[in-house]
Amino acid sequence: MDFEFTEEQRLLRESVRDMMDRIATPEYIRKCDVEGCYPFELYDAFLEMGLLQMPFPQEYGGLGGSVIDFVIIAEELGRKSYDFLGAYGTCVFNGLNILHNGTEAQKKYWVPKLINGEIRMSISMTEPNAGSDAGAMRTAAKREGDFWVINGQKVFSTGAGVKNNVINLYARTDLAAPYQKGISLFLVDNTTPGIKMRKLDTLGRRALGTYEIFFDNVKIPADRLVGETHKGWGYMLSGLQLERVMTTAGYCGSAQSVVDQALEYAKQRHQFGKPIGTFQAIAHMLADMQTEVEASRLLMWRAAWLLSKGQDALMAISMAKLFGSEAYVKAANLGMQIMGGYGYIMEFDMQRHFRDARVTTVTAGTSQMQRNLIAGLMGLKTK
Ligand SMILES: Cc1cc2nc3c(=O)[nH]c(=O)nc-3n(C[C@H](O)[C@H](O)[C@H](O)COP(=O)(O)OP(=O)(O)OC[C@H]3O[C@@H](n4cnc5c(N)ncnc54)[C@H](O)[C@@H]3O)c2cc1C
Repeated sequence: MDFEFTEEQRLLRESVRDMMDRIATPEYIRKCDVEGCYPFELYDAFLEMGLLQMPFPQEYGGLGGSVIDFVIIAEELGRKSYDFLGAYGTCVFNGLNILHNGTEAQKKYWVPKLINGEIRMSISMTEPNAGSDAGAMRTAAKREGDFWVINGQKVFSTGAGVKNNVINLYARTDLAAPYQKGISLFLVDNTTPGIKMRKLDTLGRRALGTYEIFFDNVKIPADRLVGETHKGWGYMLSGLQLERVMTTAGYCGSAQSVVDQALEYAKQRHQFGKPIGTFQAIAHMLADMQTEVEASRLLMWRAAWLLSKGQDALMAISMAKLFGSEAYVKAANLGMQIMGGYGYIMEFDMQRHFRDARVTTVTAGTSQMQRNLIAGLMGLKTK
């Protein structure tokens, strides 16, 4: 067993951390959060450093990295802002999904465009009546000659409204078939006529924004169907594994940042003539927070390692996602307590973590759904 990074992985982590320290300053993060603006400057830095290329094979213009490199990057981006990770991670896991499930022509066409920064990608599964029960989606795509025509409504598509975005849209291609058999994946430019979008006002993760999308006779060329017709459910499940391991790495980075900030505060803040960190009540909170972050990280690394080896990673990923998201929520909650009234002030970063963390037990599969999945894999039937 070896818990060490290779020299290359260590260098990757350091260079991403340096870049983030330089560009994602506290002022920059605050501006994107308060004004709800997309971090274009940061995204340009991702491109300049080759981070988009990193996890893709060289034959498609990538740098031949692995899932492990992807999660190293994700954890570092998450240290500054879980929302910023979304800008990078959503593009990469959707791109990898096309790499794993698209036709050869699609890989050659879409992957270079994505990793060179010509386009971005978002994912759209959820609908008003199909959240945890994603298979209940009703948005439909109908074949008409050389085109697909899409009608329906999606909700919570993060980053869908940003310029040059291609929506990875899951839609029904057979309304009568059970969902495992009647869903397909499409690539839809967000400016296609017939699309209307509304950015939703949210408590946290305000930079990328999450969108409601209406499709009214949206016509797209036939070759925008990824892979094969009716195979979308399988593509979605394999894509979700990558998404969840990446998001968990981001939770670890964000939760570590919470612990670091709370620890620093506990050392500096004096009450009753002593640093508050010397009160056992506060010191134990910090010890618990760090222990949970470390446990999340180990679960995440194991899940990423299994995925990178092509082994069955479903249980490990679900456990990592469940534990990591709940650890981030708990850490941010305790971080607020440790900072007393100052945690509640917008000038300090803790309140943003508190807001950003809160949704991590909902997105990418709720905690309840992760527990259902884990219990199911343990042989228990849950409802
Ligand atoms: C900020 C944000 C960003 C998002 N980004 C995206 C995105 O980019 N693309 C996308 O497609 N979606 C996205 N989502 C949607 C997200 O994946 C859904 O919100 C999530 O799947 C839950 O669906 P729901 O909100 O409809 O809740 P519901 O499914 O209605 O669940 C409500 C509650 O019931 C519980 N519940 C439901 N079914 C069960 C069950 N069988 N057993 C036990 N408990 C259950 C849930 O755990 C939850 O607590 C985003 C959501 C948010 C808030």
